[in-house]
Amino acid sequence: MADFDVDFFVIGAGSGGVRAARIAASHGARVAVAEEYRVGGTCVIRGCVPKKMLVYASHFAEDLADAARFGWDAAGARFNWSRLRDNVAAEVDRLEGLYGQTLANHQVEVLRERATISGAQQVTLASGRIVRARHILIATGARPNVPHVPGSEYGETSNGVFHLPDLPKRIVIAGGGYIANEFAGIFHAFGAEVVLATRGDRLLRGYDVEMVDFMAEQARGKGLDIRLNFPIHAIQKQADGSLLVDGGDAGQLETDMLLWAIGRDPNSADLGLENAGVARDGAGAIIVDGHGTTNIPTIHAVGDVTNRVQLTPVAIREGHALADHLFGGNSRTIDYADIPSAVFANPPLAAVGLTEEAARAQFADVAVYRSNFKPMKHSLAGRDERALYKMVVDNASGRVLGLHMVGPDSAEILQAAAVAVKAGLSKQAFDDTIALHPSMAEELVLFK
Ligand code: NDP
Repeated sequence: MADFDVDFFVIGAGSGGVRAARIAASHGARVAVAEEYRVGGTCVIRGCVPKKMLVYASHFAEDLADAARFGWDAAGARFNWSRLRDNVAAEVDRLEGLYGQTLANHQVEVLRERATISGAQQVTLASGRIVRARHILIATGARPNVPHVPGSEYGETSNGVFHLPDLPKRIVIAGGGYIANEFAGIFHAFGAEVVLATRGDRLLRGYDVEMVDFMAEQARGKGLDIRLNFPIHAIQKQADGSLLVDGGDAGQLETDMLLWAIGRDPNSADLGLENAGVARDGAGAIIVDGHGTTNIPTIHAVGDVTNRVQLTPVAIREGHALADHLFGGNSRTIDYADIPSAVFANPPLAAVGLTEEAARAQFADVAVYRSNFKPMKHSLAGRDERALYKMVVDNASGRVLGLHMVGPDSAEILQAAAVAVKAGLSKQAFDDTIALHPSMAEELVLFK
């Protein structure tokens, strides 16, 4: 042990890496973290956190439009992108500071430079310094995928979207997943003409088909232009600076900005993995066992670089469990069933457990309950917008297999309901719970 400079060397100070480092240190390990960019990783610096702030900002558009119906005179309200952008950036700076502080409080050494693996128990820093580590954790996350089509370099990714000097008047968002749907809602609320163009015939693959269709219908009702079966073949920059997006048979789109939101690839290149023989799959993801250990027993990986579930809370759990396993004498693994998730689109979609399609494939007798309703707030506002909640139940046991929600605040409501689904509660348990009235969430205990 004396031969090692540290017990645990973490590459990447994102959600998974920071949690693993902090927990390992709290178990008494000597820990160092290398980060070549900013402490906090994608979620804090250019993902979930600043995105959610933009989502909050976007909600004002409808609230201000509806304000008069609620007795408030908000006429003349204007949106100022640069003020919002700078305030969000300042908040991100503050959070980055807190993350750094947390590591410092736990005596974790933060090395602000790139690290690569130079052996099964050795990393080499960009400065040339060599660190010998009892265990190494790769927590380098993922990066936005940009396709190999002519002119793809004219497109922006979610990395740059938080720093735009000006808002585009027109934007084409390529993709049909989380990022595409969320930024479509954001830019639309800020007044841009948005086209969401996805290559396939479905948005948000993996979510319940009926719920996604309902969400898209509500979004279209708000004026969002959603184009399915629109594969992008090429992009041309025109003399006036605008972009011509060529969708082949699907047509052409002229726009001021193109945002690539077509998935994220594991950040596993140029890490020196070959120096230790760490195995990756065909997509570049580092292959790990249930603890997060690679084929090399001293090298581990958590989070997006393993491409299992690309969600921050999952990376955090994985990092925490690995640190407990390696240094805390608590060898546990993660249960990946019933992970709640949400798409912070407008309207938002949230879900936990099995979709109707998955439930029918796995269970012989499935019952589906739906509540399609107009939220009270929309009624008074005079909005033609509805919400849909859906419960998927195994008839044999009565157990709730899945809950799916489209409507205001659905992510907030779903998190609490996810506890019940995770606990394996029955529909009867929901029915036995008295409604909290008036609320949207009460629909969860009123399914007929
Ligand atoms: P997603 O995996 O959600 O969606 C990718 C989309 O891009 C799909 O519509 C897919 O189409 C399309 N696509 C994939 N490859 C290509 C290609 N080569 N050319 C054209 N289209 C393509 O990816 P995102 O980028 O939206 O987000 C990345 C990840 O980040 C998510 O998977 C999620 O885990 C995480 N995230 C989570 C959020 C949250 O929890 N709210 C928010 C933002 C991101 P098809 O379905 O036809 O293959």
